[in-house]
Parts: sequence; structure tokens; C-alpha cells
Amino acid sequence: MRYWMDYSQFPYQPRRGQERLMQAVTLACENRCHTVIESGTGTGKTVCTLTAALEFCRSRGKKILYLTRTNSQQRQVMTELRQLSAKQKVFGVALQGRRNMCPLACTDDELVHGNPEELSKVCSDRKTRVLKGDEDACKFYAATISQDLQPVLRFSKEELPTAEEFTDYCIERDMCPYEICKIHLPNADVVTAPYIMFFDRFIRHALLDWMACALSDLVVIIDEAHNLPSYARELESAELSSIGLRMANREVDEFGDPEVAEGTSLRDFIAILEDILDAAVQEYLIDEDGIIPQSFVEEELMFRTHKTSIGLKSLLSQTTNYGEMVRDNKKLSGRLPRSYVFGTSNFLTFWHLLDESQYIKLVSEHETKAIEAYCLDSAIACRPLMECHTSVHMSGTLKPLDEYKESIGLPNDSRTVDIPSPFPPENRLILYSNEVSTKHDDISRDETMVDRIADHISALLRGIPRSAIVFYPSYALMEKISSRTADASNGRKVFFETRQMDQASLMDIVRGFKHASGNAVMHAIAGGRISEGLDFPGSEMELAIIAGVPYPKPTAKQRALQHFCEIRFGKGWEHAVQAPTCRKLEQAIGRLIRSETDRGAAVVLDKRMIHFKEVIEAEKTEDPVADILDFFARTA
Ligand code: SF4
Repeated sequence: MRYWMDYSQFPYQPRRGQERLMQAVTLACENRCHTVIESGTGTGKTVCTLTAALEFCRSRGKKILYLTRTNSQQRQVMTELRQLSAKQKVFGVALQGRRNMCPLACTDDELVHGNPEELSKVCSDRKTRVLKGDEDACKFYAATISQDLQPVLRFSKEELPTAEEFTDYCIERDMCPYEICKIHLPNADVVTAPYIMFFDRFIRHALLDWMACALSDLVVIIDEAHNLPSYARELESAELSSIGLRMANREVDEFGDPEVAEGTSLRDFIAILEDILDAAVQEYLIDEDGIIPQSFVEEELMFRTHKTSIGLKSLLSQTTNYGEMVRDNKKLSGRLPRSYVFGTSNFLTFWHLLDESQYIKLVSEHETKAIEAYCLDSAIACRPLMECHTSVHMSGTLKPLDEYKESIGLPNDSRTVDIPSPFPPENRLILYSNEVSTKHDDISRDETMVDRIADHISALLRGIPRSAIVFYPSYALMEKISSRTADASNGRKVFFETRQMDQASLMDIVRGFKHASGNAVMHAIAGGRISEGLDFPGSEMELAIIAGVPYPKPTAKQRALQHFCEIRFGKGWEHAVQAPTCRKLEQAIGRLIRSETDRGAAVVLDKRMIHFKEVIEAEKTEDPVADILDFFARTA
């Protein structure tokens, strides 16, 4: 069997590890087996996987679907495709959802909040109207079907634009980027798209149709795959919140209040659901969530509406019909075809039918009260991967690899490959101090603990005059501890990641932190947006202080997940607690070294780090300031 590579198509001088990475992908394609690759920073994951997969796919009539979590990762795919295309022509298409690529949705205050299904309805309605002669329904579609698209195809093939560049190009010509992308898809060697386009079953069916490709002809590459297990669980979960019920009531104000069962109006029914939500909170909420008995909602509904289960079914059917009427009405008047009444009845039907071995029913109260059907099994959303020719899962922080493989249901013969970063290991120092801990019990028992953690952070910030990010396990701890370190910034600019921060504000503080290169302190959350996916090269960040091992909070949801993993894999703690914690630590520490010449030190302030010291390769320190100063002096 052949598994060597034709390196002539690789656009760079191969670095250490890259040959192995390409061979792993070739082997996966040749043997039709799934592969999980941990590939450290600087290994050039994107270009290596594309090179190897393209070489295989071209001669076999297969296609590559490269899935990314963020738009910046997608832009990176197109950048690498341009490099590859300079050697041998390749056609890649960057696809995003209508929310980003439909010129009408992007600029409409209501449509911009539409979900894929809603925007698809709006789009198909407008296209139908255009085809019937009403060109004003969508001028972009009208132009798209009446103009010569060859120049756009040429632009696409020659420039390999990012989704953003392609959108701008089409809008300047009054054409629809989304529709033209769809036309280009059957000819593309590589399609890069967000996760949802594959893992959402409805969008996947449409995508495969547009690509004119069967699942068995797809090589799927999943970038930053450490996100996949939790993403897959969230995707299959659903909730009914008090905000949703309030919005359903507004629909009744606007569209009328019919009887949905004998003696029960729709508004009565919504009020009953609000009461049940309150009762669930009263009865089962502990701290921020709680498990509710399997049949609690159904029994309460039957009791409060005086209906049997058959009567309830008929009531839900009436409610669904009403919701469909609302959606149709809104669509006809050019509004987003969303109905909260429809969403409510849909949720209750889902809630009633769900498989109790894969879901947990919860009540929660964060910003709003909600009942939630939380999916415990990541393998449900990942099942279609098993029908693909192969799938390649990669990230810099996937370990433990066997746990990842099991959690998403990959077959036993799937391969795991570990490719270390090519950057000099001596440029990175990882320490831990066992003098403190952010364990809840330790903080409650020892009233000096928070002050002692703050003292450690202050000593590090005072003693090491370099740009630093302090990562905390939660916002609550960040607020408590960071306020005690205010005097330690030594004139450096101080930035905070905050709850609910929008993307623009987040990027503002990141820019501010980067511009103050060497002279700034950032307080952020381990597992938050700053600790994952952002690069701080050179002196932009040289010190990471991890104020507490970021274990997941022991909520009811977390305990249910651990129990599920114990039953399914016999490894509840390893799957539900240890692995995600390890990945959060690796992600935070990973911000330090982004190039061959970067140097950086990380210190974890938590005695529980002893459980991770082998995987993370951390050394115990008695004097972190002295050890870190010594490290920077040695590597200067
Ligand atoms: S055809 Fe294009 S511009 Fe028109 S509604 Fe659909 S996606 Fe939007």
C-alpha cells in the first residue's frame, strides 16, 4: 500500500514534523480510516492537511470539506490554498451562512438575527417572487440570474477570495454572493465552511446537494477539533426560556388569542408554562441549575390543563398550527419568519420524545429561567462523519487523544498521531506553585486564600516587567482576586475581559493590550475567547499566570455529563473533567509561543496542578519570580 507523499506540491520548505503530518493524512485517506492529530503550534496543520488530502482527492474524484470554528481560521484556509495554487491550480470556495453572505440579511436589523432555517425561508420566498417577475423582491438575485457569471467564476478561480472578499466583490456588482457560491460548489476541489454547515442535518443535506457530492466522497477536515465534543452536545440541545415565553405572549398580542383546547386559550397555555417554569425553579434549582424528573413537565401540564396525554398532543398540534400561521404572516409581510409559539410547541414535542439515555432534563437560571434538554452524547451530531470517506480531526490541544476519539464515537481502528511543536522547547517554561488553590472548599475553609492568590499574582506582576495575561477559572474569581492586585500593575495598562463582551469590544481591548507591547496586563478567563484562538507573538505576551486550575464548575449538568461518561466509557472523571480541564490549560499556555523566536513563561497557581504536571510538563516552583527571571536571563 502506498503512503508516501509527493512533496513537490508542498508550497514551503518542509519543517520538522510536517512530513509526518502529511503522511498521517495520506494514510488516513488511503486506508479510509479516521485520524485524530494533535499538532503543536507551528506545525502548519492547515497547509499540511490540505496538501496531503488534495493529492489523494484529485486522482480519486473525492472532495475536501474543511470545517472551521471561526472566520479567521477560514481565511487561513484560503491563504494556504493560494500558496498551493501557485504550484498546481486548485479551486477552493469559502462558504459562510446567509447571515454573513446575504446582502439583504447583513443590512437588515431583523434579518441579521435570523437563524439558517429562517433566512432560507426568506430567501426562497424572495427568489420565487423574482422568478415571477417582481425584481424588487431581491435585486441581487435578479442580477445574478440575468448576468454573465463567467467573470465572477474567473475571479473566484484566480484569486481564491475569502468569504468576506467574495461577498464584497459580488455586492459591488449587485449580485448575490451566496447564490453564486452555490453555483461554484460542484466545481470546487475544496470547500471551507463553518462547523454548522456539516453538523446541522438540514444544512448538511443542502450543502451536499449543492456540492453534488455524496458523504462517501468527502474527506472532512475538522480544524480546532478540541471544540467538537462540546459543540456537538450543544447543537443537539434545546431550551425553553422565560424570555421565549414572553415573546410568545407578544405574538398573541399581535396575532390573536385562539382556543388551543377546550376551555384553554393560547395565552392561558403560555401562562401555565410560565407557572411550570417557576415551579421547576422553586422545586429543583440548586445554585445555578438542577435536574428535573423525567416526566415533571408532562405531569404538570396534564394536571394544570386538565388534559390527558392525548388531549395534550392535540393542544400542541393546535399550537404548532398557530405558530406556522404566524411564520407565514411574517414572511408575507417581509419580516423574519420567526414564531416563538412555534418554537415553544416544537420544544415541548422534542422534550416529550427525547431519548432519556442520551439527554438530561434541567432547570437553570442564568440571565433568564429556562428548562433545558441537554444532550450528553457528542456522538449523535458526529454520526455522519462515519459515512464520509475519512475524517481528519486536528488541533494543538486534543490530548488525551483516545478520550477525544471515544467521546465523538469514532471507530476503534481510528488512528491517533501526536506531532510536537517544531519550536525550541527550551523557549518555554511551565511552573506550578502548590501553596494555593482555587478549589471551592479551600477558599471557603481558609479565609486568607483569596488574598494569598492575589499576593502571588502581585509578586509576579511586580517582579517580572513583561506583558502578562492572568487567566482565572471564572468571572466571579476574577472579580474577587483581580481587585486585590490593582496596585501591582506598576504603571502598566490593565485590561479586562468581561461577561457578555461583544466581539468589537473584545477586539478593542486585545488591540490595546498588543499595542502596549511589553507593558500591559490583561485579566481574562481560562477557556474564554482570549485564551483560545488569539495570537500574542513576541513581546506582546511573555507571561501567563493561571490563577487556579480551570476545572468545570460542579453544576448538575456537569455531574450528569460525568455520570453519562462513567456509564458509557467507564471513565467519567477522565472524560468530563480531566480532559476539558487539560485542554483549557494547554490553550491558555499555548498563547505564549507562536513563533520560533518567541519565549514565554507560564505559572499555574494551584496545588491541584499535580494531576496535570505530566501531560502539561510543568515543574514545581518554590519561588516563581526568581525561576522566571532566571529563565528570561538564560534565554536572552
Ligand atoms: S438571493 Fe441572495 S441576496 Fe437574495 S435573499 Fe437570497 S441570499 Fe439574500
